[in-house]
Amino acid sequence: MRLLLVEDDALLGNGIEAGLKQAGFTVDWAKDGREAQLALDTTDYELVVLDLGLPRVSGMELLQQLRGKGSDLAVLLLTARDTVRDRVAGLEAGADDYLVKPFDLAELVARIRALLRRAHGRSVSAIRYGDMVLLPDSLTVTRGDEQIVLSARECAILTDLLEHRGTALSRARLEESLYGWNEEVESNAVEVHIHNLRKKLGNDLIKTIRGVGYLIRKDAP
Ligand code: CA
Repeated sequence: MRLLLVEDDALLGNGIEAGLKQAGFTVDWAKDGREAQLALDTTDYELVVLDLGLPRVSGMELLQQLRGKGSDLAVLLLTARDTVRDRVAGLEAGADDYLVKPFDLAELVARIRALLRRAHGRSVSAIRYGDMVLLPDSLTVTRGDEQIVLSARECAILTDLLEHRGTALSRARLEESLYGWNEEVESNAVEVHIHNLRKKLGNDLIKTIRGVGYLIRKDAP
């Protein structure tokens, strides 16, 4: 799950970035509006956490540009003051949710997860597939009485494959959703995570489509 954080306050940005990474998200952090425009033009994100007060290009301008281009990317606004006018303007410009500073990191994570569930048409955080239930928020898979714990990256790959079941996802596509700007992609990382997922969940779940990528079948066996 790759997110874009747009925040010019270094201290706050650092805290949010660390908190989101700990929650298992891949985070790119843009420190002004122009940097955010470039990121949005070149990278596919699942969600944007957008500060309204930004240098160069304001959060509101960014939001309007995004919606003007027809993007339905989930946007969570961060506003400095709880003024009704700011909130209404943000929601009318197409934001999906907002938080007023100062806020609790746990609440930010909970709201992000709620928006991502909504974006994927799920009202609960569990993803069911056959006799298996993936709980991305707690990095676990349950199967009957069995509970299998996943790493954040294994969970991200499995969630991605399950949300696009029936479609093969390339290694490059999976890598992109796993790594942020400042993280070096380890070679074979995706293969290693897939190997570990197969060890934990059985060999039949994730198919290798030679020359294309990885796939979970549309219908569970
Ligand atoms: Ca700001």
